[in-house]
Amino acid sequence: MNKRGHVLNALLLALGLGFVIEPNLGMATARTVAEITVPIVLGALFPDVDTAFGRHRKTLHSLPVLGIFLAYPIVFGNLQYVWIGVLTHYVLDVVGSRRGIALFHPLSDTEYGMPTGVTTSSKYADLVTVIVTAVELAVFWAIHTYVVTLDLDVSAIASEAAAGIGI
Ligand SMILES: [Zn+2]
Repeated sequence: MNKRGHVLNALLLALGLGFVIEPNLGMATARTVAEITVPIVLGALFPDVDTAFGRHRKTLHSLPVLGIFLAYPIVFGNLQYVWIGVLTHYVLDVVGSRRGIALFHPLSDTEYGMPTGVTTSSKYADLVTVIVTAVELAVFWAIHTYVVTLDLDVSAIASEAAAGIGI
């Protein structure tokens, strides 16, 4: 997926997540949307930096890179929500485009993709992006409603867990 697709995906996802987390349509919803939109868009732009540094769809399209973005809020208390943008970038590349991504780079260069994808220049690219985003939101909503209340700030979850086990 190209830059346009990733930004569209991130904007729609952030807007939708704001309503999933704060469904009351009040100031809390607006505040959540504002709080998460910019970090998610920045995260969604990051992986394609490997078009200039490293090898595209390998160097910055891997699970270890996602792990680094999950670690920042926990270890340093910054970059909250950026991981969501990185994750949604991977999902869009895997599901929405023809070529896969090297999830296990640098251990393996094998690229994982799904046959659902369209070429980035396809006239259906925007439609695929919107559908992928809608499915992502449905998954987030289902988890939030039926499994566990989502707190997208992993640093809060980590400090709660640390308090729970007494460290
Ligand atoms: Zn990419």
